[in-house]
Amino acid sequence: MYSSPLYRPPSEARSLIIQLTEGCSYNKCTFCGMYKTKPFRIRTEQEIIDHLNYLKSYDPNPSKIFIADGNFLCLSTDKILHYLDKVKASFPNATRISCYGGPLDLNRKTPEELLTIRQSGMDMLYLGVESGSDEVLKLINKGVTAHEMTIAGQKAMAAGFILSCMIISGIGGKPLSEKHALESAKVISAIDPQFMALLTLHVEDNTPLKDDILEGKFESLTPDEIMVETYQMIKHLQLTHCTFRSNHVSNYVNLKGVLNQDKDTVLKQIESAMKSKDYTPEYFRRI
Ligand code: SF4
Repeated sequence: MYSSPLYRPPSEARSLIIQLTEGCSYNKCTFCGMYKTKPFRIRTEQEIIDHLNYLKSYDPNPSKIFIADGNFLCLSTDKILHYLDKVKASFPNATRISCYGGPLDLNRKTPEELLTIRQSGMDMLYLGVESGSDEVLKLINKGVTAHEMTIAGQKAMAAGFILSCMIISGIGGKPLSEKHALESAKVISAIDPQFMALLTLHVEDNTPLKDDILEGKFESLTPDEIMVETYQMIKHLQLTHCTFRSNHVSNYVNLKGVLNQDKDTVLKQIESAMKSKDYTPEYFRRI
């Protein structure tokens, strides 16, 4: 009933995954291999009915739901509302529904459309910001500028979604590391989301970025350089009350706290990790 590969954010590990679309309609980010083997498509009405019936028999009362695959929000607002109704009718006791929310899809929708989607039951979005630097966003072919990314995040916040923003440490390589740190801090601060996840670049074989590395066009950061970049980014963040997590299997060091209130503690954790060099071994890291 699922089309593989299937992805969800780490924090949705206990959620019921409902797959209404397959793949990513954009699928051009150079670092992302998630859906490179899977063409984008919207499942048919009958497939969705069968999928929901199957999931009801398997898990009739989930508390949280994540709608896959990569960008459910690329659908027309009418279709999104139609499918949200079906999901809610199948699982009326679910307390949270979430999905990935790409910047291009968010910016294509009006504030009113986003508000309607939010009020119709979509509670939380995961926005892959990746970087706040124009140069890095261009390098990874994200399809938006830092300004457009900021607008996308701010629109999601204004519509009342719970927003989790993801940044990838090391995504700019060595030459852009400092810009990536400072400008990502600027974009995340301007969005001021409730959650921020900091992953670390781990390049998969089936990606254009891997080819760049093999051709010597992209120089990855060492664990020490990742720590310097992370320190700079955290130091410059200005957030109201953001649950910060950097405890993914891709990270060299586990960090967590509420920003800005725990900023000094998190910075001390980074200093201590750099002294001890107790980094997650390379063979253990994944994205
Ligand atoms: S990072 Fe997101 S938007 Fe980019 S190709 Fe992967 S799934 Fe699509």
